[in-house]
Amino acid sequence: MTIKELLDMGADTLNKAGINESRLDAWYLLSYYMNMTRNEYYKNPGRTVTDDEINGYGRLIAEREKRKPLQYITGEQEFMGLTFKVNNNVLIPRQDTEMLTELVIKHAEGKRVLDMCTGSGCIAISIAKYAKALSVTASDVSRKALSIAGKNAKDNDVKVEFIESNIWDNIDGQYDILVSNPPYIASDEMKRLMPEVRLNEPHLALYGGSDGLDFYADILKNISGKIVKGGKVFFEIGCSQAGRVSDLLEKYGFKDIKTEKDLAGLDRVVWGSLV
Ligand code: GLN
Repeated sequence: MTIKELLDMGADTLNKAGINESRLDAWYLLSYYMNMTRNEYYKNPGRTVTDDEINGYGRLIAEREKRKPLQYITGEQEFMGLTFKVNNNVLIPRQDTEMLTELVIKHAEGKRVLDMCTGSGCIAISIAKYAKALSVTASDVSRKALSIAGKNAKDNDVKVEFIESNIWDNIDGQYDILVSNPPYIASDEMKRLMPEVRLNEPHLALYGGSDGLDFYADILKNISGKIVKGGKVFFEIGCSQAGRVSDLLEKYGFKDIKTEKDLAGLDRVVWGSLV
């Protein structure tokens, strides 16, 4: 069997399993397994593959066939031009979240930034990399997530302080900026998530209570004294939550509350300043 035939076979298997970008996923897995660029592939698509290669690649295709996300198979996702290690203890960083991150980077110079519910650490680490923040702290309730986030900070050569904490429980410092992409999926939406997400990504990182708003409410309820006057909060939100999250911010003393849309034109970020 040639390497082209192997790729065709992978694509065909994924296509039959109803996976949308079957050919692209089959290619990514081949490239990952063979450690090979597109260019190298095209130099000799007629190369004969070994039995080991057929079996090894076949195992990866079988995982994807069962709807394991590509990123949990390869163990990586790119975000803000940086590479992040991922496993099923952390949410896979989403491109949508780059908007939130870029917005915070614009405001972070000289500030003490706290990223709550950091997961893979993608937001905090990108801020530490690209902004001239005074300090970057990141917290998560999951020790397993923090272990990945710590590796990611090291791999990307940035200094981030990590704190294991359920919301504010173990956070003693004061901050100028709070950023968070907390779990915000509501109960009825959980069932409708793609199988990749529903069956593989951590429930802990997705589920935000019956209306999806539990974390915003819990974070804001005890924010007094943690964020300085004039400090800012930036939240990623579900596209139907802008109004309700803005109301919560107002209730807890924030003003200049704004909503930002993502590239798809959906509400994605709500932010405001504490008076
Ligand atoms: N902050 C992480 C991210 O944006 C994790 C978010 C989460 O677990 N809800 O990817």
